[in-house]
Amino acid sequence: MEVGVSIARALEISIFNPIKFTIENISINEAHGRILAQSLISKVDDPRFDNSAMDGWAVIESDCIHPETKLFISSSTQAGTSSPIPVVSGNACQIMTGAPIPDGANAIVMVEDSKRDGNHVIINGPARSNYIRKKGENIIAGEIGLESGVQLGPSQLALAAMMGYSEIPVIIPPKIAIIGTGDELVKPGNKLEPGQIFESNTTALVGLVTNMGCQPVKYPFVNDDVDMLREIFDIASVECDAIITSGGVSMGEWDLVRRLMEEEGDIKFWKVLVKPGGPPLFGTWKETPFFGLPGNPVSSQVIFLSIVAPWISNSCNFHETLGPNIYQKVRVKLLNPAVGTKHKITMRRIHIYFLDNDLVAEVPINQGSGNLRSLVDCNGLTLLQPDTNGNVGDVVDALWLK
Ligand code: AMP
Ligand code: MG
Repeated sequence: MEVGVSIARALEISIFNPIKFTIENISINEAHGRILAQSLISKVDDPRFDNSAMDGWAVIESDCIHPETKLFISSSTQAGTSSPIPVVSGNACQIMTGAPIPDGANAIVMVEDSKRDGNHVIINGPARSNYIRKKGENIIAGEIGLESGVQLGPSQLALAAMMGYSEIPVIIPPKIAIIGTGDELVKPGNKLEPGQIFESNTTALVGLVTNMGCQPVKYPFVNDDVDMLREIFDIASVECDAIITSGGVSMGEWDLVRRLMEEEGDIKFWKVLVKPGGPPLFGTWKETPFFGLPGNPVSSQVIFLSIVAPWISNSCNFHETLGPNIYQKVRVKLLNPAVGTKHKITMRRIHIYFLDNDLVAEVPINQGSGNLRSLVDCNGLTLLQPDTNGNVGDVVDALWLK
């Protein structure tokens, strides 16, 4: 077990115990929000053939250099026509958007730039070759159109359809167990006795896990009791692909998740050099990857964002920028000072917004790791390097949360 590791080291260690995932083929109609498991190559050229980007006239460009050129309407073609009649000099083919370009024609005149005169057309605007959409100008058959690991939204799925796919391989969302721990916890809505609080961390974790493309499985939270913890870990390790707990990983006598993992599980690292974040641990319980997050509400979310989310991404080969992600790395100009920490990366809650042309960040004063409300009032976290403070006007790295 390594104790007190950097975020980078935590990721290096945890990737040796990745989430195991499997793949299924599903209809593109069911695939919204899913993650592509293999790159898809196009089965067709797009466009499949030279076609018109405008309603108008397919002409020979050199016929139209004089204003008010009069051309004979020799044919007409629309989308779906397979072989339009060729155009010869002095003729124009009436053409609709998407229709194949007749042989001979090399430019299009927009209908707005013309006037019809019986079986002739008077051209009074430019004939443009760039109104022709060229075969293969967007993608050619055999080229990769969608890379493995991208999250599929409307445009990606439309492209899959355009490339000829009705079914595609996607990742089956890994099941991640979410288990709260603590004697003081009560289900929201129930009566609170003195010393008790409503349990909230697992609600946040369900959302975070979902946004990372995985399936959360929320178990009833458990007391600080070794036998109860062991029982629920055993069940979760059979039913799920990974386990995330909250609470019970610090130095306290009742931090039994840590003790049980130490005695009967296998801890790979404990404590990460990040503030807030406390003492998360990572290891395995009966071969199942296991993240023990701290109980403080802000700490548990910060550790999820800084370590668990990238671990999921790396495990499942998500696309670096187009896979599921819950933040964007940005640089922000500080409007208030942000105090750093000795030896640790400091993730201060910040409120990021545009001011004039700058991305700026306010740094609220109350940064307590129990202050869940501050996460709601903010939309970002600083990434202050160890032993550095952020002064007003400094531009610093930050995570802009989605
Ligand atoms: P622990 O990490 O178990 O020492 O807990 C640290 C702090 O977080 C304590 O104040 C706990 O009451 C609080 N806490 C732990 N688990 C939860 C939870 N699931 N929901 C809300 N607060 C929690
Ligand atoms: Mg506790």
